[in-house]
Amino acid sequence: MPRFETLIVDVHLATMVPGGEPYGAIRDGAIALSGERLEWVGSASRLDGDPEDVAKRVLRGGGGWLTPGLVDCHTHLVFAGDRVDEFERRLHGASYEEIARAGGGIRSTVIRTREAPEETLLRLARARLARLVAEGVTTVEIKSGYGLETATEMKMLRVARALGALPPVDVQSTLLAAHALPPEHEGNRDTYIELIRAEMIPRAAQQSLADAVDAFCERIGFSAEECARVFEAARAHGLAVRLHADQLSDGGGARLAARFGARSADHLEHTSEDGVRALAEAGTVAVLLPGAFYFLRETKAPPVALLRGHGVPIALGSDLNPGSSPVLSLLVALNMACVLLGMTPEEALAGVTREGARALGLSGDRGTLEAGKRADLALWNIGQPAELAYWIGGNPLRLVFKDGVPRTPPEAARALERPIPDEATAW
Ligand SMILES: [Zn+2]
Repeated sequence: MPRFETLIVDVHLATMVPGGEPYGAIRDGAIALSGERLEWVGSASRLDGDPEDVAKRVLRGGGGWLTPGLVDCHTHLVFAGDRVDEFERRLHGASYEEIARAGGGIRSTVIRTREAPEETLLRLARARLARLVAEGVTTVEIKSGYGLETATEMKMLRVARALGALPPVDVQSTLLAAHALPPEHEGNRDTYIELIRAEMIPRAAQQSLADAVDAFCERIGFSAEECARVFEAARAHGLAVRLHADQLSDGGGARLAARFGARSADHLEHTSEDGVRALAEAGTVAVLLPGAFYFLRETKAPPVALLRGHGVPIALGSDLNPGSSPVLSLLVALNMACVLLGMTPEEALAGVTREGARALGLSGDRGTLEAGKRADLALWNIGQPAELAYWIGGNPLRLVFKDGVPRTPPEAARALERPIPDEATAW
C-alpha cells in the first residue's frame, strides 16, 4: 500500500530552511505532497523503498532544483495607464521628485485608475500577474494607492481579491491610501488623513478587502506623524501595518515601523543604524526593492551590511509599479539585489521565499520546503540555486505547483484567464 499520494524524485531541494547547508540544500532529495500540503521532505535515500512502491503517483524532476514557490511581497500591479512619457522626461533630465511636484508621478496614474472600469483594471492586472506567475511566483502582495478616494481604493482592493481567487496564485492585499495627497485635498492634509482613518480603513476592514495597511513616509508622501495616525486606525481595526520607509530621505520611517510592530519596512535606502536597530528589536522585516533603486538611478543603497549585522530579516520584492519600478520579473530583481545591493544569491532567494513569506505574516504556512507547509513549489532547469540570481532575462522555470497542482509556465499564465468565481465578482 503506497504511503504517499504524490512523490517528486530525481530533484535537488533548496528547502531554504536556515541553519544547515547553504540554501537548506538536500541533493538527490524527495518530497511528498498530500493534497495542498507537503507531507515529507528529505533525502531520496531515506525512502522506504522504490518511489513507485511508496507513492501512488511519482513525478520525476529531471535533475532540476525544487524551491518554494516564489513570494513577491511588494507590488502595485493594479493600475491603469503607464508612465512611459515620464520615463522619457526623466531621461531628459527631470528628477522623480520634480515630476511628482509638477503634478506628474503617482497623481497621473491616479487619474487613469479612477477612470478605469473595474473589469478593465482586472484585465490589465491579470496580464501583469501572468508574467510573475510564469516565473514561479505563487504568492503576491498587491497594494491599492492609485485611487486616493474611497471608491477607487475599494475598487483596487476588490480587483486584488478577484486575482487572489484565481487558481495559480494567492494574493495578499494592502490598503495604501496614504500613498500621495490627492489634488482635491491640497492644502488640507488633515481632512485626507481623517478620510483614511474614518472611512477607508473601516470599510476595507468590514468588507475584508485588505490584509494590511501601508503608507508612504516621505517628503513627497506623508510625515511620520501622519503615518502614525493612519497606523493607529489600522490597529484599531485589527489590520497589520507596513511602511514605505526612508526611500528618498531619512524621515524616521524605520523607527516608526518598528514602533508599531510593522510586518515590514520597505525600501530603507536612507535608514540610519538607529533605524536598523529598531527594526531588529521589533522583528520587522526589511523589504528591499532593487527595481526602484535601479530605475530611479539612485546612488544610496539600503544598508545591507547593517541589516545583516543586526539580524534583520531581509525580503525582496519586484515593487512592480508604473512610475518607479516597471519590473515584470522577480528573477531580475534577484539579480539586481546581488549586483546593485550586494546581497548574496542565497540571501536573494531567501528574500523571495522564506523572508517574503515572513513579510506577509505567512511564515508558518509557506516560504520553505518543510512537512506541513503549503505545496507551493517551483521546479527549475538549473544546475545550482545561485543560477536563479545569475541570469538576466530568460526563464528556467519548468513547473510551478500551487496548492499541490503542477502547471507548466504557460499553463500557469493561462490559469489566470479562467472565469472568475461568482463570489469574487462584486461589481
Ligand atoms: Zn512600493
